[in-house]
Amino acid sequence: MHCLPRKLSMADLDVVDKRVLMRVDFNVPLSGGDVADDSRILAALPSIKFVLEGGGRLLLASHLGRPRWERREDLSLAPVAEHLATRLGRPVDFAASCIGEEAEAAVSRLERGQVLLLENLRFHSGEKDNDVEFARGLASLADLYVNDAFGTAHRAHASTAGVPNVMGGGAAGFLMTKELNYLYGVLNDPAKPVVTILGGAKVSDKIGLIRSLLPLTSTFLIGGGMAYTFLRAQGIECGESLLEEDKVGVAGELLEEARQAGVEVLLPVDHVVGAGLGPDVEVEPCPTQSVPDRKMALDIGPQTVERFKQGIEKARTIIWNGPMGVFEMKSCASGTMEIARAVAAADAVSIVGGGDSAAAVQLAGVGHSITHVSTGGGASLTLLSGKPLPGVEALTDRVDKQQR
Ligand code: AMP
Repeated sequence: MHCLPRKLSMADLDVVDKRVLMRVDFNVPLSGGDVADDSRILAALPSIKFVLEGGGRLLLASHLGRPRWERREDLSLAPVAEHLATRLGRPVDFAASCIGEEAEAAVSRLERGQVLLLENLRFHSGEKDNDVEFARGLASLADLYVNDAFGTAHRAHASTAGVPNVMGGGAAGFLMTKELNYLYGVLNDPAKPVVTILGGAKVSDKIGLIRSLLPLTSTFLIGGGMAYTFLRAQGIECGESLLEEDKVGVAGELLEEARQAGVEVLLPVDHVVGAGLGPDVEVEPCPTQSVPDRKMALDIGPQTVERFKQGIEKARTIIWNGPMGVFEMKSCASGTMEIARAVAAADAVSIVGGGDSAAAVQLAGVGHSITHVSTGGGASLTLLSGKPLPGVEALTDRVDKQQR
């Protein structure tokens, strides 16, 4: 049993006049200095509006990209502040540093119902090191702490774990609560049968997930680069396809565990292959399960798509994490797009892990037909693997009224 962590909700906070530090996940793609996809910003709006309409003074903190712990102008959150202002229809102040005098001065100017975005947390190594002085610097800016950044909840960083520790706890934002409810819901009480679709590059990232989902899954559909380690474990030739040699053994063990548990595992039976990865690579169908020498499987083939679709149609719950092929290349996107459409069309609760699978359902134009598209790839993988999320653990436990 995976217990839903019972955490204080921001709905229980009295925010009037309070300085509320809210960790959000504004790690959004930028293009030409503008926000290219604002789904993560939109997902945080309910929590943001709750504080502003409740008369609080809101400080938003986020990371953006991987600046390697030094200032990088191309990874400044300044354009995100401008974008948020247009979405909120009110000004958003910006502090050019997330701690120190600049941040303190900006916070002191904040009035009731006003919002400020702090500069990229990852300009400071104290963020990833969960440095207590850095966490104290952030905590000193605020009276209350809210974590709405599900996408970074699997990391024990200063802004996710250090600050609530220094401040003696904190509350879960609305997005965080929604993510936890959906994902723990599927772990604890899914409508059966459950079909779990796994893809992406690496088996090693998904071993914990397979073990955790084995007891509740009826059928695993495994595609993408990770499938070839499983095919290899069955003695199938995989040509130059992605292969984790050191994981062939564990892939074989997982297949045996599934067999003993009566869980069906479907692997690709045909492929789309090319000479390698690259934008100009020519691709061709490969109708056999074995991949020819010097060829790399880049997508699942049409027979596999058909078999996977039949599995999906039977599901009452679908969990999907990882693309079926190198969907970033148009010529290798078909398998992933077909599966996205089949998941959206199924008469089932559908939960899509973040990252590439979330991007794929948007690309296929079916995001609105999925029950829940998670905003966190790594975080949803961690949670569904049955592991705790440090950013959630650090929040205040909820005390029910009857218990008081
Ligand atoms: P992951 O982060 O493990 O979910 O992997 C996502 C990545 O897997 C995407 O960037 C895909 O391009 C890549 N991928 C999916 N299928 C394949 C494949 N058959 N060969 C190589 N890479 C793949």
